[in-house]
This record gives sequence, C-alpha cells and structure tokens, in this order.
Amino acid sequence: MEDDPLASEAGFAGLGLRDELLRSLTNLGYEEPTPIQREAIPPLVAGHDLVGQAATGTGKTAAFALPVLQRLTAGRADAGPAALVLVPTRELAEQVSQAVHRYGRELDVRVLPVYGGQPIGRQLQALRRGVDVVVGTPGRVLDHIERETLRLGDVRTVVLDEADEMLDMGFAEDIEAILAETPADRQTVLFSATMPPRIDSIARRHLRDPVRITMGRKAVAPDELPLVRQSAYMVARAHRTAALGRILDVEAPSAAIVFCRTREEVDQVTEALNGRGYRAEALHGGMSQDQRDRVMGRLRGGTTELLVATDVAARGLDVEQLTHVINFNVPAAPEAYVHRIGRVGRAGREGCAITLAEPREQRMLKAIERLTGQRITLEKLPTVTDLRARRLELTRAALQNSLETDDLERYRVVLDSLTGEFDAENVALAAIRLLHEAAGGDADEEEIPSPAAAPRERAPRPAGGGRDRPGVTRLFFNIGRRAGLRPQDLVGAIAGESGLSAREIGAIQITDRFALVEVPESAADMVIMAMRRSTIRGRRPTVRRERLVR
Ligand code: AMP
Repeated sequence: MEDDPLASEAGFAGLGLRDELLRSLTNLGYEEPTPIQREAIPPLVAGHDLVGQAATGTGKTAAFALPVLQRLTAGRADAGPAALVLVPTRELAEQVSQAVHRYGRELDVRVLPVYGGQPIGRQLQALRRGVDVVVGTPGRVLDHIERETLRLGDVRTVVLDEADEMLDMGFAEDIEAILAETPADRQTVLFSATMPPRIDSIARRHLRDPVRITMGRKAVAPDELPLVRQSAYMVARAHRTAALGRILDVEAPSAAIVFCRTREEVDQVTEALNGRGYRAEALHGGMSQDQRDRVMGRLRGGTTELLVATDVAARGLDVEQLTHVINFNVPAAPEAYVHRIGRVGRAGREGCAITLAEPREQRMLKAIERLTGQRITLEKLPTVTDLRARRLELTRAALQNSLETDDLERYRVVLDSLTGEFDAENVALAAIRLLHEAAGGDADEEEIPSPAAAPRERAPRPAGGGRDRPGVTRLFFNIGRRAGLRPQDLVGAIAGESGLSAREIGAIQITDRFALVEVPESAADMVIMAMRRSTIRGRRPTVRRERLVR
C-alpha cells in the first residue's frame, strides 16, 4: 500500500526485518525508523559489532533490540540466553526488557530483567524455565554467574547500553568479568551517550572491527535556521499530557501542530486535548490521503485549531497560518527538530517552538542547540496561579473585544431591569463570572510537580571529609569492608533501587563495619525507603540518616 510508510523501502521493511517484527511495530504505531535505527539495524542484523554514540530519546533501544530479536532462532527451548543486555540501573533494566517484550511479542520471546533488590527467587525460577534475552545490571548478573544460575555459553549478542553511565557507576570490572563468561565469537554492541577514552578502550579490547555511528554532527546551513522563539519544559512522562494542556492554555495558539512519535501517542493526545475543549485532529500515516486532505482543509478553514501529527504524516505539509510547533517529546534526531520547527516563523512572521522533555533527554536538547547554534530556553511550567491569571486575562480580552466591536444595544433591557435592584458594577461582575465559567473557568487543576533536579555532571567522588555541604545528606549503611562492600555496590544499589542517577550520588566512605554515602537532601527519604527493599552483597542493610554527634 503506497500510503503505508512501514511497508515502503523508507520504512522498517527496507531494513530487512522479519514480518513478525514489522507487525509488532505497526501495532505500536511506529511509522518509520529513527536515524540511529536506520544506520544501526542493517549491520547488526548482518552480525557486525557496533559502537553507537546515542543518548536516550534517539530510539537506541529498538536499534539494538530489533536485531537481537531478528537473530533469535527457533527451537531453542533448552539453550541458555541468546542475548545479554547490560544496563546501569534497575529502571533501565525494566524499560529495556519491556521494549524487548513488546517488539518480540509475535516471536514469543522470553525476556527477563535482572537487577539487585528484586527477590532473587523469582529470577531463579524464570532462569530455570528458560530465557532468551536477559537484561540486567552488572552487579546482579555477576551474582547469578557466581551462583551458577546464569550460563552465558549460548550468548550470541552482548549489548552494553549506556556504557558511560555504567563506567561512572564503577561497573568496569564487573563488565569485564561478565564478558569473559561469554563466547569469544559473540556479537558485541556498545551504546553510549558520550565517548570518553575509557569507553574507547573497552571498545578496542572487546569489539571486533565495529561499525561506528555518531548522530547529529553536521551543522545546519544558516538559511535553514528557523527564526522562532524556542523553549523547552522539563516534565516527567506521567505528567506530559497535563503539561501540554496547560501550556496550550497559556500560549493560546491560533493554529498549532503537536508532534508525537507514534500513532498511538497521536490518538491519545488528540483525545486528551478534545477532552480539554480544544478542537484537535489527528494526522498520521495510517490515514488515507483523502482523510488527511480533509483534516488539512479544516485547519486552513479554522474549524480545527490543533493538529496532532507524526513526522511522516506532516511531511510536505505546508500551512501558512501555523503559529506554534509543539514537540510532545524530544524528536529522535536533532535534524528532525530543525525540520519540524521550520514549519513556523515563515515569511518573517513570528513563531514559537515548544518542546516537552524528560530530564533524561536533556542531552538531546544540548545536541540540538549545538546543531543549530541557537538557544532553547528552559521554562517553568505554568502554575495553577499562572493559569488562573491567564484565563482571567482571556476573559478580559474577550470582553474588551465585545465592547469595541459588538452592537450591545439589544441587551440593554436586561441591564435596565437589573439596575433597578442592583448596582451596575455588580451586574457587570456577575456577567464576567458567567462568561468566564462558560469559557472553561477555573477547571480543577492540580500542580504538576517539576521533575528531580538535573544530574550533576560529575562522577561519585571517593571518601570526603566530615564537613556538611548544603543540600546534601549523609546516609549511614550498617555494612562495610568486612562484608566485601565496594563503592560500586552502593552506587549500584542506590541508583538501581531509587532511580537516583549515579551522578547525584556524592562522596562515599567505607569503613570496616559501615559506610557513609552523600545523597541530595531532597532524595534522602526516598533512598532510605528504597533501600528497605534492597539487598547489598547478599545482605539487607539498615540505612538511616547519619546521626551527628556534636
Ligand atoms: P529510546 O531512545 O530507545 O529510549 O526510545 C525513545 C522513545 O522512542 C521510546 O518511547 C520508544 O518507544 C520510541 N521510539 C523508538 N523508535 C521509534 C520509532 N521508530 N518511531 C516512533 N517511536 C519510536
């Protein structure tokens, strides 16, 4: 079908993926491969090693997961895992294994996340039953190897995901030990957001003649540079839809396009916006040309004010009157960003590009800034107070407009009949209230929490002195050197269990019997709670704030 980009050469089919995978991708609403997928999938399917510089948000997970699935062979029930994916944190282990599960649904792939803190019993059971793909943090994977509950002799592909982050967390030795347990002729894939020399050295020692991929390096020609106000908001995934609604309320665009990654997302966002009173329409590659033309007609005619679209569907779309481009998430490549926001600010008119990003995607924003040489201003989400003020402002503008342009004489009878009994000012106030409420008024709103602070650009430091630092809390762990505790065990457990990034963990001090770890004060309680579920070196430590004796 000509209209289906998936089936075209530009789509996933052009990358040589098997039908079961193509069907899963269609079901997920993926319309075309991201740049990193386009470059990485063919060599990986062919069995080559690969080093990819790619941050979160580029689609790197599918870039390695699809080839891993493509290379799974049938009838391997009795064999050990065919692929091992090493990731720095529990959060990522869960995310990646869910992705593998979704992509591999039609292949009945058996995937198991393995991380510290999770009861080991369940992992043992699953491992005994047989697993095709293991996604784990290095510490726990090594635990299983040492207990001989995980055999890596049948592994054909090893993926080191977010390798720089794993090294920052002190997992270098663990990774070496794990790689030594896998067959020498395996395929090895390394993805990393940054390429410090230590990563290069791992690649040189453990990868064979790898294909190298780097994203977003070429600068944009000056005449392609958009002339628009560019801003971004940091929002956790769970609050993204609410944040979008609020931003739209405050910006009040007359015609805007909201870009989403997948068809699923397009449908979900369109529904949410219509529920909020917007006239929004979906535009995606699953629609026929006819349907798309009709949607465009309604936008041009002003019946629709918001288009919610995928990149594929919006290609070639030319709308004069667009004032805002909104990225519901950071696009998978900086070039796509430039392309998207080139749709506003045409012919010297003012435009505005707004991007919603998760804290993890901050690196992508930086890459975009490097590519364009333009700044993206980080803005604070409108608060409930901002929103109320803005709505009153809109009500006021509507009244002013009516006062200036409407013929109001026919309403005079109402006014006259009321002013006998009420003050004219009070009559006006009541009218304003009714207008305000009819326009949506102060719909119940809750504050959207701002996500945890951006990670510090610094690796954990070794033991520091005893002085307090502002905003930092020292936690006491009743486990120490005698139990074989190493700094990387603490970093792994804390980052893996609490979701705190390795960079947010400060100085670590280990004595024979206990350890002290610096964490941001704002995260201290969360870390303590998370540690209650966790084991470190096979023990369940007591963790509390350090008691200072003064
Ligand atoms: P990642 O960079 O792997 O963390 O992926 C970022 C997000 O993009 C995930 O939510 C994926 O589901 C989504 N994604 C990955 N590849 C595609 C694609 N080709 N089309 C649409 N969405 C994608």
